[in-house]
Amino acid sequence: MDRKTIKSWGGVHVSKSWQFNPVNEKEVVSLFKLNDEYGVIPRGSGNSYGDQALNSKGGIVSIQDFPEHDELSITSEGYASVHGGTSYAALLSASVKQGWIMPVVPGSKSITIGGAIAADAHGKNHFHKSSISSCLIDIDLLTSKGSVVRCDRSHEPELFWATVGGFGLTGLILKATVQLEKIESNQLNVKSEKFLDFDELINRFNTAALSHSYCVAWLDLLSKTQSGRGIIQSADPASASSEALSYESPRRVSIPELIPFNLVNKASCGAFNTVKFHGHPSEMQQKSVRFPEFLHPLDRVRNWNNLYGRKGFFQWQIVVPETEESFLEEIISKLGDLPLLPSLAVLKRLGVESGSYLSFCKPGWTLAVDFPFGSEASRGLLHNFDKRLADIGGRIYLAKDGGMNPDLLNTMYPRLGDWKQIRKEYDPGNIWQSDFSRRLNLTDS
Ligand SMILES: Cc1cc2nc3c(=O)[nH]c(=O)nc-3n(C[C@H](O)[C@H](O)[C@H](O)COP(=O)(O)OP(=O)(O)OC[C@H]3O[C@@H](n4cnc5c(N)ncnc54)[C@H](O)[C@@H]3O)c2cc1C
Repeated sequence: MDRKTIKSWGGVHVSKSWQFNPVNEKEVVSLFKLNDEYGVIPRGSGNSYGDQALNSKGGIVSIQDFPEHDELSITSEGYASVHGGTSYAALLSASVKQGWIMPVVPGSKSITIGGAIAADAHGKNHFHKSSISSCLIDIDLLTSKGSVVRCDRSHEPELFWATVGGFGLTGLILKATVQLEKIESNQLNVKSEKFLDFDELINRFNTAALSHSYCVAWLDLLSKTQSGRGIIQSADPASASSEALSYESPRRVSIPELIPFNLVNKASCGAFNTVKFHGHPSEMQQKSVRFPEFLHPLDRVRNWNNLYGRKGFFQWQIVVPETEESFLEEIISKLGDLPLLPSLAVLKRLGVESGSYLSFCKPGWTLAVDFPFGSEASRGLLHNFDKRLADIGGRIYLAKDGGMNPDLLNTMYPRLGDWKQIRKEYDPGNIWQSDFSRRLNLTDS
């Protein structure tokens, strides 16, 4: 089979792999005839910043060509069955018009349900709703034995929890049943407020998280005078209106792929941050917006990742335990001093851990920062923070990682050994492999 060059979302990781796009469940099983020593990895919409869905020399399987359901069937209790290649965009377009929404929605609507389960993804409401696993009822998984196993919390629970947050390394998620939540309107009432320093940020966030459904803060890490200032937004579903329920929102701009140089530099980011911060009035603002505007703001610019040019960019997302806020403050105040450019920084509050063996979320704060990729050395500049993070019980989000030190994994993810054992039981021949799994020695034993 021909090998294709495939890039990660951040553009830093590239692989040359064969790709298999079955169009139905019957065809997918012939995957095992194609298998080679470098194995195969499921791929969703390729929104992984790093090498999670790449497999150099080996193969990639995508089920995005499975036919979409004409009409999503939702039971009166809100249960819906979707295939793993269904994007959030497709699911939400179908469900919102019937008056239902996914309780957990990550930051881009291109993400597939399979990809979100494989990352145990979270949204801007983790402190209330936890991760996607909280609304996941069961999974139909194609295992390395070529059979489809339905697993849930009571039937094959180890396989279920190893697959949630398991990065495609236990098998291919063919289908999932999710529990949706009733909505009366497709609007959210959003409040936004500026903050000037870390104490203000934490106080406002803690208050907002208690009384609002969603909360997120944008941080300006480039200001020389008030590093860490920013804007906090909280939101709640609006009550019924006369507008027809719909999830659609027009995309405004598209960035072409062929920009050879990086448009995201100190001058452009500094100017963007200043305009964004000073453009916001000093008093609290309130408005009603459609769901996508609040839940998926970056999707307004299609392929915005191309702005970073050929070299690409990487994201560093961490969770700092709630008892360690001083470390978070130190990171926020010092990131701008490194020879790296923190081009976009977002803070969210996390609640309880899920049952996933590799759950990233735990009570605390998650900071996600994008950096243009200057050279191989760029990621290494954060290793000192990584080490200290591990020592205080924090974690790097594996779904976004592209260059952490694998020696920190066991400390950050104390159930990793159990996960490896379960994975091995279901995949003794290491059929499911990726550049990511080999880089972090996840499929070694
Ligand atoms: C703009 C943007 C915003 C984001 N916001 C958030 C956020 O708010 N919260 C959050 O938690 N994450 C967020 N993410 C990260 C995203 O949720 C994960 O990277 C997710 O895994 C991407 O899903 P995908 O469909 O693009 O899958 P891919 O990137 O193609 O694959 C991701 C992983 O899932 C596995 N996988 C994909 N499909 C299947 C399947 N059918 N069966 C088994 N395994 C599968 C792959 O093997 C791979 O390990 C964001 C990413 C972007 C680009």
